[in-house]
Amino acid sequence: MNEAWTKDNNGRLHALHGRIPSHAAGVVIVDLESLADNWRALQSHVAPAKCGAVIKANAYGLGVAGVAPALASAGADSFFVATLEEATEVKARAPGATVYVLNGIFPGAAAAMIECGAVPVLSSLPEVAEWGQAAPSRQQPLPCALHVDTGLNRLGLSAAELQQLAANMHLLDRLDVKLVMSHLACADEPGHQKNQQQREIFERLQPLLPSVPLSLAASDGVMLGRHFHYDIVRPGYALYGGQAVAERPSPVKPVVEAYARVLQLRTLAPGQSIGYSATFVAKRMSRIAVIAAGYADGCLRHLSAGNDQQGGHVAFRGWRAPIVGRVSMDLITVDITDLEETPIERGDWAEIIGPTITIEDIGRASGTIGYEVLTRLSPRFTRIYIGAADRQPPEA
Ligand SMILES: *Cc1c(COP(=O)(O)O)cnc(C)c1O
Repeated sequence: MNEAWTKDNNGRLHALHGRIPSHAAGVVIVDLESLADNWRALQSHVAPAKCGAVIKANAYGLGVAGVAPALASAGADSFFVATLEEATEVKARAPGATVYVLNGIFPGAAAAMIECGAVPVLSSLPEVAEWGQAAPSRQQPLPCALHVDTGLNRLGLSAAELQQLAANMHLLDRLDVKLVMSHLACADEPGHQKNQQQREIFERLQPLLPSVPLSLAASDGVMLGRHFHYDIVRPGYALYGGQAVAERPSPVKPVVEAYARVLQLRTLAPGQSIGYSATFVAKRMSRIAVIAAGYADGCLRHLSAGNDQQGGHVAFRGWRAPIVGRVSMDLITVDITDLEETPIERGDWAEIIGPTITIEDIGRASGTIGYEVLTRLSPRFTRIYIGAADRQPPEA
């Protein structure tokens, strides 16, 4: 991210003047150039394996309309989403790409999946059978991926089910299996024995469907090393600048910033309380900024702070200001008494996520993980794309 911007977030937002509606209460700025750089960095990190891109949940809340074309221009051609609706959206934005639907098909939904042109990731024998039956003939097998369970015990065929399938030529003939994948339970703990165990189970199952490409690693799995990469990796969070494991170097940089407006400034005299349930009472003369973002915007109520309970922060030009009192649906109140160095005015922008407060910081302060914070940033924040969005995508 541009150094000048990190010093002065109002200057940075000023540079976007004209693109931010005057009525916008909050903005999510998505740097598509950094996003594309992250994909390229991960791709070169895993080469000769291929780097896919997980863009489920509206590209982790950042907006698939901006994210999918930017990743496609960077060279990504394999996308993973959770649902058929998401796949339809990605197909419209990146027509040439292969789109895998991680949640597979619901009973009766095979026809809709075929019409969408997405590739379902099938996780059980009844689901595989239903997809096979939807194939018009053995000469026209249907593309699919198979999810095998290696210990997460969430989705996936068991070893016994995969054996059963491998022996069923009648069914297999109707399937064009593009990928066999599994998912790691503890990739965020590099030393966890389960990583190695799952990898061994995955390799033991592989000969059942020889010559089908394999996929095991999501963002954290990529950082576990080469022998977790196989043929294609499936990062999501890392593409968006997420670094869930702080002590492990990851080749990505920040992509997302979020800001909300200062609505009002007020003074709190000692003994006065602020917000619902009066959980915070001022002990000194305090300067308070009222910010136009609340839990309905994705600033979780867990960020609230009382006199005996630490909460989250926002930042102004690199200075952190603690939240005081309850986070309410549309508003946050922050204590700016100690921010004398930086003038704060009505209409200024408070950093929710950015150079001072990382996704991981706000995730921790929210009692959750950065993933949940990103995917909850509400549509009330105006999405603004910078970087690659300003350029024409190259000719296909
Ligand atoms: C969400 C998901 C991913 C991406 O995970 P990240 O940790 O965001 O990289 C990969 N594979 C599967 C099966 C998923 O559900």
